[in-house]
Order: sequence, then C-alpha cells, then structure tokens
Amino acid sequence: MELTTWNIPVLALRGLTVFPHMNLTFDVERPISIAALSRAMETDQEIFLVTQKELGTAVPGEKDLYRVGTVSHISQVLRVSEGSVRVMVEGGRRARMKRLWQSEPFLQANVEALPEQKDSEAFLNSARTEALLRQTTVLFEEYAERAPSVPDEVKAQVLDCRDPGYLADFLAQNVQLRAEERQSILEEPSSYIRLRKLNEFLARENDVLAFEGEMEDKVRSQLARSQREQILRAQIRVMQGELGESDDGDDELEEYRMRILQLELSEDTETHLMKEVDKLAKQPYSSAESAVIRNYLDVCLEMPWNTVTKERLNVEAARKILDRDHFGLDKVKQRIVETIAVRQMNPGGKGQILCLVGPPGVGKTSIAISVAKALNRKLARLSLGGVRDEADIRGHRKTYIGSMPGRIIEAISRSKSMNPLLLLDEIDKLGSDYRGDPASALLEVLDSEQNGSFRDHFMEIPVDLSKVMFITTANTTDTIPRPLLDRMEVIELGSYTDEEKLQIAKNHLLPKQLKEHGLKKSQLRVEDDALRAMIRDYTRESGVRVLERRVAALCRKADVRLLTTDVKRITVTEKDLHELLDMLPYPPALHTDREEIGVVNGLAWTEVGGEILEVEANVMDGSGKLELTGNLGDVMKESVQAALSCLRSRVEIYDIDPEFHKNKDIHVHFPEGAVPKDGPSAGIAIATALCSALTGRKIRAGLAMTGEITLRGRVLPIGGLKEKTMAALRNGIKTVLIPADNVRDLEQIDQTVRAALEFVPVSNVDEVLSRTLCPAPARIKSRVEKKPEPQEQTPVAAFAPARENSGDALRQ
Ligand code: ADP
Repeated sequence: MELTTWNIPVLALRGLTVFPHMNLTFDVERPISIAALSRAMETDQEIFLVTQKELGTAVPGEKDLYRVGTVSHISQVLRVSEGSVRVMVEGGRRARMKRLWQSEPFLQANVEALPEQKDSEAFLNSARTEALLRQTTVLFEEYAERAPSVPDEVKAQVLDCRDPGYLADFLAQNVQLRAEERQSILEEPSSYIRLRKLNEFLARENDVLAFEGEMEDKVRSQLARSQREQILRAQIRVMQGELGESDDGDDELEEYRMRILQLELSEDTETHLMKEVDKLAKQPYSSAESAVIRNYLDVCLEMPWNTVTKERLNVEAARKILDRDHFGLDKVKQRIVETIAVRQMNPGGKGQILCLVGPPGVGKTSIAISVAKALNRKLARLSLGGVRDEADIRGHRKTYIGSMPGRIIEAISRSKSMNPLLLLDEIDKLGSDYRGDPASALLEVLDSEQNGSFRDHFMEIPVDLSKVMFITTANTTDTIPRPLLDRMEVIELGSYTDEEKLQIAKNHLLPKQLKEHGLKKSQLRVEDDALRAMIRDYTRESGVRVLERRVAALCRKADVRLLTTDVKRITVTEKDLHELLDMLPYPPALHTDREEIGVVNGLAWTEVGGEILEVEANVMDGSGKLELTGNLGDVMKESVQAALSCLRSRVEIYDIDPEFHKNKDIHVHFPEGAVPKDGPSAGIAIATALCSALTGRKIRAGLAMTGEITLRGRVLPIGGLKEKTMAALRNGIKTVLIPADNVRDLEQIDQTVRAALEFVPVSNVDEVLSRTLCPAPARIKSRVEKKPEPQEQTPVAAFAPARENSGDALRQ
C-alpha cells in the first residue's frame, strides 16, 4: 500500500539535483549526510535527495532546502577515506517535503509523493510534441557543439529518446544549467512544459556559450598576436642557442634605439640611424652584414654629438699659460694671443687657421697643446705625414669590409667633444696619387664656409666641424699645397740658439723630466756648464727634442743611483756627462779653426734646420776629367760646372794654370755621401774650394759661406739664411759670407746670432775669394800683387731673387 506521506532520512545536496530515473555517483562528507545514509542503509535504502538553496550552509534547516526532491534508491555506499563516502543512487519519484522534523543526528523529513504524469500515446505522437522534441534535438546538438565535453553516450540517448518528460529530466541532469533552472524543471509535473522549459534554458545556455566562444576568440586573437611574437622570438633563441649564437639580439636593438634617442640628434640623422637599426634587426645575428651595421652604429654613437667643452676666451689667462709653458717664442705667443683676443671680441667669427712652421723640436706641438689648455678645449692630434689617399681624410664607404671613418672624424671621436683643437701635424708631408687628392678633402675640412656639414664617406651623415679649431704644423711651407697654404696663417718658429736652449733646458725640460722621473729638485742638480756642454757636444739639432731626451737619460741614471746606493743627492757636472749619457760627445765641427787647402764650409738648409756642408776639392795631374761625388742633385752638379767655368775665365787673375782643364783632373766631393744634396746655394763655396785647390792657397779659418754663383761670377741671394747662420754659430764659425742681397734678411736673425757672427755681404766671386783665400805662397805672391783683383762691375740690385728648392735634398 502506498502511503501519501511518510518519514524518510534526508540528504541535502550542494550544487546538485538528482532527477527521477537518473543514476548518479557523488561523494558525501558531512556527518549529518553520512548519518542519513547509514540510517537509510539500515532500513529500505530509500533517501530523500533535495538540493539546498545556498552552497555554504553547513547544517541546513527547513527553509534552507528546496521543497521538491527525489526519493531515491541507494545502490551502493563506498568508504573512500576517513570521513568520506562515495554513494551511488538511482533517482526515484518526485516528492515534496512537508516538514523537516529532525535535524540531528541526521535530517529527517515527512514527505509526500508527487503524482507522476502518464503521457498518452496521442500526446506522445502529436505534432506539437514532435516539434518540441525536434527543437530539443537541434538545441542539444548546438549545445553539444559548443560545450566543452559532452560524452557520446549522452548524445546517443538524447537523439534516441522520444519521451518528453524523461528527456527533460535527462537533459536537466546532464547539461549545464543553473541550480534554480534545474530545480524548476524538477518541480514541473507536466512533461510537455518541462521539456519546453528545458528548451528555453538550453537556448539561453547556447547563447551564453556562443557569446563565451566569441569572447574567447577575441581574447585568443589578441593574445595570439603578442604570444606569436614571443613564441617566435623564443624559437629564434632556441635555434640560435642550437647554432651557438648569442641570444641577446633584442636587447641589443633596444639598446641601440635608446642610445640614439638619448643623443637628441637632428631629425635626419636620427631617422638615418634608426633605419640602420631596423636593417640590423632583419639580419641574422652573426652575418657579415650585421657586423658591418653594428660597427657603423658603434662608430656613429661614439661620436660626441652634443658634447662641447666650455671655451675660455681670456687673453690674460692665455698669455699666462703660454708664458708658463714656453720660453721665448715671443712672436709666436703674441700672434696666438691676438687670435684669442679676436675670438674674445667676436666669439661667433670664423677663426683663422694657424700653421706653425719650423724645424723639429722647436715647440710647435707643445705650443698647440698650451693653446688647447688656455682655451679649455680638448686636443686631438693627427699626423698627415704620408697620407696619400683621400679616404684617409674622408674614410671609406661603410660597405667595404673593415672600413672606418677618416682621420678627422676619428680624431674628433677620440677628443670626445665637438669643439676640440685639432692639431694637424706635418701638413707639408701630405702626398697625393691616383687614389685621390687628400689636400682637396682637407680643404673642405679647413674651409669655414663648408665645414659646417662635413661628410665622411663612412659616416654618411653630416658632421659639423665649424666649432673645431685647427692648428697645423709643418717643417717647411714649400711643399704645402698652395690652396691649403692660402687658407692658413703661417707663423714661423726658428731654431734655438745655445743660450735659448740653456734657458729652456733649465726652466722647462729639466723640471718636466724631474717630475716624470719622480725626482725632487734637491735630488738632482745639473750645473749650467753641464747643460751647456750637453747642448754643444751631445746634441746637434735646431730644436730641443734630443736635448730633452738627454735630460731624461740623466734623470733615469739618477733614479737608479738613488735607489741602489747611499747617495742622497746628485750633482751633474760637465765631466760626468760622458759616463751618464753613455755616449761620446759629437766630434767638434771640422775645419772651423784650421786653414786648409780645398776644403770650405758651405751652409745648407734642410727642413730640420741649418747645417754646415763641407765642400772638398782636389786637383791632380790628369787629363781634364771632372769628378763629382757625394750624392748630388742636378742643380748642384751644374753649380760645380758654373763655378769651374767662372774660374776658367779668371785664370789670369788667380794665377791658375790656363791648361788645367786639359792636364788636371778635378774631384769635388761633399762628405756624408749618404745624405742627398741639391740646390744652387753652395756656388761660392764650390768656387772657393776649386780656386784654393787650383792655386794651392789656403782657406782662412772660421769661415762659412752661402750664395749662388753665375758664370760671370755674380753672387745671387739664397733662402734659409736664418737657419744657416744658426748652424754656423753652433759649429764655431766666426765669419759668414752672405750674398749682398740677403743683407735685408739679417733683421730676422736672432740678436745673439747677429752679435756673435761677423757677416760679410758679397756680390761677386772676386770679393768672395779675396775674403776667403789666404795670400798665395811666397813664390806666387809677387805675381798676384802685381795684378790686383778687379772690382765688381755688375749692379747688385739686378740680381734675381733667391731660388727656392722643392726637392727633399739638403739645400745649399
Ligand atoms: P715640434 O712639435 O716643433 O717638433 P715639440 O713641441 O714636440 O716640437 O717640442 C719638443 C719638446 O721641447 C717638448 O717637450 C716641448 O715642451 C719642448 N720645448 C720646445 N720649445 C720650448 C720652449 N720654447 N719652451 C719650453 N719648452 C720647449
């Protein structure tokens, strides 16, 4: 007999609804639930399964539970673990809870069964029902497509089922619905309405799923883009790793970009460099092309684009620095101070380019260094000696492997500022050949109109050189290309006299070297006499470069001695030099104090200063041969011929054998045969040597001479007088014969030299010979007295100007 109401243990379900005829397995943990199960198992294994409204309620009361549930049959209870059982149930009939009358130790309620609706055949076969079923199938198929995982057996059952009530329950149990929706289906007695409700819910669920899918797609595609890149990068890294390549490519590109932006370059330059970085990004890391681009970027980024030092334009301060660093050189300092004054008055003006010309070691470089110091500019030196290729100045295009920027850009980069003082050394040694003319590239650099946007082949981007100050140095102006020379203001620095050298050594070189060698003034004293001797006997130069080296040698020796012996202070006297410098003094200048036959001191001028150039002539019996030796150039050989012809026309005057050109052999030699010699200015020296050799008359001691000779015996002016006279003084000469036309040049000659030497202006060869040759030996003397030497008749003013020589040989 069927009871309408009865008491039954209750299992409160959380997030779960059990429908009639459905088999379900779930785990149970709450003690009241386990107790309810136990109770049911002890009786008829029936239990009322009802869903609680809130998941969180631990011990639900009557109001916490829905009213309608299923009275189900417990098929199995398994202990899963301590305090947890797995229970398998089979959903039974729908029932309504009338009252929950027990809540401990388990829930127990009084329930009444809900009537089961029996569907008639007619209803089941009706078109309405069929339409509803079809709608369900369509909706479910759509659902199955979208929902993550619908088991195949569920799909099969749904398609097979023709019972709308059961189908509604089955789907409500198996598809994803909200708890209230499930509950409302459970509570619906009419099978038709139940399925219709279910279809509604399913349709809504399908919409939700569709929407979810759409969102997922969107998120996925967004994610995909960034992830794709990340994944690709990761793959590249893995591949590079496999190939043994570094994986820091991305960081590197970013760093380049950052550095470019930080430099705040002009827009064009920035764009250009950014493009290079983009190019780099497309290259495999270790390709040759990427190495080229990387090198290019490195060079460009190392340029001190926006760095300038603050220029100090202060005439007084500059003068002080120049005076402190250098002895003498008054004219040079004055000229530099003037340049600075002009800049101070007109800072925006285009500065003059100074060209310091003089022999080595006279302080050209160190003056330039002082100027940089005075102006607070960085100094960068670059030597132009031997530069033959335009690319040396302008660089090679970056496409060539190993190409680099030219020397100008490289020097600026080295100076780390855009307004350095660029010292262009040896501008007179600039060459040119088929590879282009470096001088024209240099012209652009030095031209203030053009150098605002200097283009280096390598850099490609224009570089502003307008703030750079240029100073050039040269040993001679002769070989500086004319257009370059025109753009520069030449300042000459001459040789130093011994006295000047002494002052420089005492006040500059010695203190400098003491400091460099860690010596105190009291530890090493060098007597003036020792310095003088060093200048006289241990150096032979126009400047003080070797002298500085000798002083350094003294300091080195002093260091060793102070460290290895008990000596506390060292005084160097003249006597010690031989041992300390570890060298023999240079032999004293030859033939300056002896009267000799056929040996004359000529004077030569080279780029490194003046020198004594001996001329030797020998006359022997023979057949009129003339031999010339000593590495002579053509001009010099012709000079000998001219001197000889000149003498032949004067055989009578000097009592020379008129047949000497037939029965004598003459040999003219210039010692130091390894040194090439050329130029016309040894003319009078050669004539004197020949005449002396032919007549046997001695040449007076302490004499030197310089001057070109013509066939008719005129003496023509020469160049380089200053350096030549300096050399004469250094070599102990007392009297110098100079062309009369050079007298005006004496003004430029140093006071000390002028005071120490006797200058004899000569305008023809007879004057020369009368001053240089000793009286003839007694036998001949009477004859000579009878015939007085004729006086010059040619006007001196008509002489041609000094001929300049362009060869690299000694100039006479
Ligand atoms: P240059 O460039 O003309 O060949 P440097 O400038 O190198 O010569 O000079 C060589 C050395 O001589 C340097 O140490 C320099 O300081 C020193 N020197 C040259 N002239 C003077 C001078 N007038 N006063 C002080 N030192 C000098």
